[in-house]
Parts: sequence; structure tokens; C-alpha cells
Amino acid sequence: MVGGGHAHVAVLADWIHNGIPAARATLLTPSRTLRYSGMVPGWISGQYSRDDGLVDLAALADSAGVDLVLERCEQVDPEGKTARASSGTVISYDLCSIDTGGVGRAAQVLGDDARILDVRPIDRFVDRIETIGTPAHVAAVGGGAGGVELAFGLRNRGGSAPSKITLVAGSEGLLPTFNNPARAKVANELCLQSIAVIEADATIEDGVLRAGDSAIGGVDLIVAALGSGAPDCPRESGLACDDHGFIAVDKFQRSTSHPHIFAAGDVAARQDCVVPHSGVHAVHTGPILADNLRAAAAGLPPAKSYTPRFTNLYLMSTGRGEAIASYGPFAAQGRWAAKLKHWIDTRWLNQYADLSGTKQDSA
Ligand SMILES: Cc1cc2nc3c(=O)[nH]c(=O)nc-3n(C[C@H](O)[C@H](O)[C@H](O)COP(=O)(O)OP(=O)(O)OC[C@H]3O[C@@H](n4cnc5c(N)ncnc54)[C@H](O)[C@@H]3O)c2cc1C
Repeated sequence: MVGGGHAHVAVLADWIHNGIPAARATLLTPSRTLRYSGMVPGWISGQYSRDDGLVDLAALADSAGVDLVLERCEQVDPEGKTARASSGTVISYDLCSIDTGGVGRAAQVLGDDARILDVRPIDRFVDRIETIGTPAHVAAVGGGAGGVELAFGLRNRGGSAPSKITLVAGSEGLLPTFNNPARAKVANELCLQSIAVIEADATIEDGVLRAGDSAIGGVDLIVAALGSGAPDCPRESGLACDDHGFIAVDKFQRSTSHPHIFAAGDVAARQDCVVPHSGVHAVHTGPILADNLRAAAAGLPPAKSYTPRFTNLYLMSTGRGEAIASYGPFAAQGRWAAKLKHWIDTRWLNQYADLSGTKQDSA
């Protein structure tokens, strides 16, 4: 297994319950833990402590009897059936599953600027947020749920909230994939919390952050939440990829070019239907991937496929004890929604904490 992402956590759980479907299995991933990014805005606003929302990959691998190699994967050779780790260690495989997530897009979209703090990789983002002190003016770039929640989180960062926050939402506007009532509630809450919104694309020209034609002066931190970009590794490894560089997979999460390679989560792109890159889908794909890996290891054709629901519930924390819920054409806001978000998040985490002995409070 390459990458300890949200889908692979479910695979490890399956292997703990039902045994490893092979003589030997290895997890190649750089960190002992996986950080659940949905809780990061809550950590910034003081709802959670830094270590809340961590899945203990090392403990899960240990319980499953999986060898753990704490390194980044640099290359997956689909012909030679090897994966090369950053130290040069080479791991041979018969079957490979990839769940390494996406990479940040700030460098690609905004270029190089010392003020930029990309939300990916999420662990580095958390490390850097701890050291930023109290910036006077933060620009959050990205009008999706991540950018919105981070803006709310920063506004409510007790004792060290920036005095000014500007959300540069992009030319498609605030939350372009959400329904109008949810967008209106978020816009209203941003206004109430004195977060300025500019619906234009951000660029940096001659050291000046711009939103469309306007210069945004005095910005000392640029938080980039621009969605998942594709890592270089899949394309460089010769795997079939979509136009953006994500691993092309069929409905069984199997590489369209190399059927002994599976991929899930943000690094994968389903070719038979559109599955947006988000944690919800990575999580739901996990048990499907586990079943298909088990079948493939037994020499059987994979049979399970993840079908995204027609609509999903999204819950965005306002940083002030409430959340804004969006479901199909409906939207609502309240403390109950924040409680529901906490319950859903901790329920997911506790499935794995139970297996690794690190349970969190879901009340
Ligand atoms: C601030 C923020 C809030 C979010 N909130 C939500 C939310 O509320 N709901 C939602 O659905 N989505 C949310 N998302 C999106 C969500 O985080 C991602 O879609 C989700 O993490 C994707 O899961 P994944 O398994 O593909 O990858 P990841 O969770 O990114 O996991 C990838 C794993 O692979 C490892 N890895 C990375 N590179 C390598 C390598 N080269 N070799 C080996 N291992 C590697 C990493 O260390 C990590 O363990 C949010 C994102 C952000 C930034």
C-alpha cells in the first residue's frame, strides 16, 4: 500500500478483522499518523487540540501485521512491480494500492512567494500555522468549503486572530458547487464576521496579491486552499492518468492501464463517472477498495464499485459553535449542525481509534 490516506485506513481495518489477503503486506507512507483535515479549521478556532483528528496508522498497521515503511514513495514501477521509497529502498509487490492524496496547487496558481501557506500537505500546514504569530492581514485564497472554513477558523483564533481577513473566492464565486441557500448563509456569516469576500481569481504580480484587477495591499499571510492537484509520481511512473495527472481508474478503483494497481482518494480519477475529490468520497471508497483488493489477491475479478450518492451532506463550521449544513437544495445553520459535524467526524475517527486504542470524545 502506498500512502496512508482515508481509503487505506479502511483497508487496514479490514485486514485487522479478516486477515491480510496475501503472504505479506507493506504500507509505505511518510507519517505515523493521518490527519483528518475536516477538524483542522476547528483546531484553529480552539474547538480541538492539535492531536485531535489523528488516525494512528502505525498502530493500525501493527495490529494488521503490515510492515510499515515511514518514507515517501518516489516511484511506482508498474512493469517491474516495484515501489521506490525516498531513501532508495525498493519494495516489490504483486498487487499495489495507491492512496497518497493530492498536492497543493498554490505554486502552480500563485507562483513563488514567501507569504504563501498551502493547506497541503496538511501536516506542514498545521506546523506552520502554529508559528505564524498574529498576522495583521490574511488573505484566504479559494472559495470552496476549505477556504471558507479556514477563514472562519482564523477569524476565531482566540488571542491571535488577524485583524483583517480577505477571502479571494475565485471568478466562479463563493462555493460554486453548493446550493444557493447555503451560499447565501455562508455569505451572510462571512459578512457578520467581517471577512471581506472578493469574487475574482487571485494572482501575484511583482510581489503584489491581486484579485482580478484590484491589488490587495498589506497582506502578510496568504492561505491557499485551492483544491487537490495531482502529484508527479503517477504520470512519471507510466500509469494511465487523466488530463490533470490523476491516476485513471475504472469503477473497481483499478488502474485502466495496469490492472494489478489500484488507486483511491484524491489521487485517483474514476473514468466511468465523476467522483469529486473530497474526503467524503475517499472515506466511502475505502471498504470497496478493501473488498476488491481481497478479490484480486485471491485471483478473482474485483466486483465492488463505489457509487456516489445523488447528494451528500456538507457541514461547514463557522468557528463560533455553529455550522452551516448543505444537503441537496436545502441549507440550515445552527449549533445542532456543529454538534452533528462533531459527531460524524468523531464517529469515523473512533472506528479506527477503537482498533488502535486512542478513542476520542464524541459527545
Ligand atoms: C482544511 C481542509 C478541510 C477539509 N475538510 C473536508 C471536509 O470537511 N469534508 C471532506 O469531505 N473533505 C474535506 N477536505 C478534503 C479532504 O481533506 C481530502 O479530500 C481528503 O484528505 C483526501 O483523502 P485521501 O485519502 O485521498 O488523501 P489524504 O487524506 O491526503 O492522505 C494521503 C496520505 O498519503 C500520504 N502520502 C502523501 N504523499 C505520499 C507519497 N509520495 N508516498 C507515500 N505516502 C504519501 C500522506 O502522508 C497521507 O497519509 C478538506 C481539506 C482541507 C485542506
